[in-house]
Amino acid sequence: MQLIDTHVHLNFDSFQPDLASVRSRWQEAGVVRLVHSCVEPAEFTSIQAIAHQFPELSFAVGLHPLDAEKWYNDWADKIRSLASSEPKVVAIGEMGLDFYKADNYVTQRMVFEAQLAIASELHLPVIIHCRDAAKEVREILQKWQDSKGEPLRGVMHCWGGTPEETQWFLDLGFYISFSGTVTFKNAKAIHASAAMVRSDRLLIETDCPFLAPVPKRGEKRNEPAYVRYVAEQVALLRGETVEAIAHQTTQNACKLFNLVL
Ligand SMILES: [Zn+2]
Repeated sequence: MQLIDTHVHLNFDSFQPDLASVRSRWQEAGVVRLVHSCVEPAEFTSIQAIAHQFPELSFAVGLHPLDAEKWYNDWADKIRSLASSEPKVVAIGEMGLDFYKADNYVTQRMVFEAQLAIASELHLPVIIHCRDAAKEVREILQKWQDSKGEPLRGVMHCWGGTPEETQWFLDLGFYISFSGTVTFKNAKAIHASAAMVRSDRLLIETDCPFLAPVPKRGEKRNEPAYVRYVAEQVALLRGETVEAIAHQTTQNACKLFNLVL
């Protein structure tokens, strides 16, 4: 069984002491490719070093909405040139809106739109972080597609929306990625969303080191090997085998991020 973890943060401090054993465990679990996300462009060098250490890892460059206040005028140029300088960059992000922890709508929107422009120019998919902001993210993506006349490609990562919101992003052509939150017992809306996403738009991720899935939920640190539990839960919710989910999500990730197995 081959799995792809489409969203990891392995450059965080908690992985530094034992990254080699973390890797052995993801290899044993069948994780054949990983997409490393990026919360701010200053991380580029540390992520690039990990990507060069582990050939199965590709990565993104971008600025997280909760860091939007760090945006400077020359950052668009910086993200553009970093992304074009490195063949292992397969996406721009993570970008988006987060009104759960912040309310600086104007700044977040400006930074989000600036990064959509870079992705479109470089023909790269976007990784979208959306928390308590589905309506606003939908509106921005819809406006973008209407005004440019070209569809954006991308993924709603660590998705936590209702089936209705999920449908909005499917209609926009986006992929929907489920994380450990889909294994949480009370996450009824996420369960319903995981059951209704069309097969060719389904992705899985850990978002590690955050959000360890059941049965590892008590652990302080999540890791890529645990994407297997996400696959198992998604399979259960859809009445499919875990092998079928692994196969489908691996194909989908290869298509979206242009990965070759
Ligand atoms: Zn992330």
